Amino acid sequence: MSLDIIVFPCLSDNYGFLLRCVQTGKTACVDTPDAAEISKQIEARGWGLDYILNTHHHPDHTGGNKALKRKYGARVIGPKAEESRIPHIDDAVSEGGAFTLGDCPAQIWDTPAHTAGHISYYFEDAAAIFVGDTLFALGCGRLFEGTPAQMWTAMARYNTLPRATQVYCAHEYTLSNARFAETIETDNTALDDYIISAKAKREHNIPTVPTTIGAERDANPFMRADQDSVAKAVNMIGATPSDILGEVRRRKDAF
Ligand SMILES: [Zn+2]
Repeated sequence: MSLDIIVFPCLSDNYGFLLRCVQTGKTACVDTPDAAEISKQIEARGWGLDYILNTHHHPDHTGGNKALKRKYGARVIGPKAEESRIPHIDDAVSEGGAFTLGDCPAQIWDTPAHTAGHISYYFEDAAAIFVGDTLFALGCGRLFEGTPAQMWTAMARYNTLPRATQVYCAHEYTLSNARFAETIETDNTALDDYIISAKAKREHNIPTVPTTIGAERDANPFMRADQDSVAKAVNMIGATPSDILGEVRRRKDAF
């Protein structure tokens, strides 16, 4: 089994993703921010679209479901806990469930916090995880429908993945997240190096997505809420990682 993954920008700062099982030719997109752009990317490769994999219900993730389903006959897969809010959903999935793109299996992880039913798709054999708006390069999603404890549970679980795992986040927020991350850990050389590399990419209009679990583990203040340096930065030594993440998130919201 092997999986081709295409990343392309759309809308103002979203990323679209196309996945194709090389052996079977089965194709999926993760979320549907922009039906026209996704169609264009499909047509440019002479592909079809067998599945739409939704991570959560926000319109910049599901807005193209109807048009793409109608055009390609794709099956819409989405989070069970948001079933009523996912337009044109066919199959509702949740923790412990599985999805297979041709020969390429994915685990479904419940990662609520940004929204109440947000899920992630983990293709272990391909060393790739699609995290929607839960984890961002140097950041995490806003807590619209969940708690800091839920977000920390997701971060701690992502932290258990192999460091080389490719992380596909749904937005290009990296340089803005970097400006904030620098205010938390002022003495983290991994963060400094990360920012230099991200700035160089953005200067040439290159996506900073995918990132890797290892890079986020070393530099992302939300993935590092269990580290003494982050606790110290927010004057919360001895507090739980959930509470520390909550404080870092509160500061980011006000940044
Ligand atoms: Zn969202």
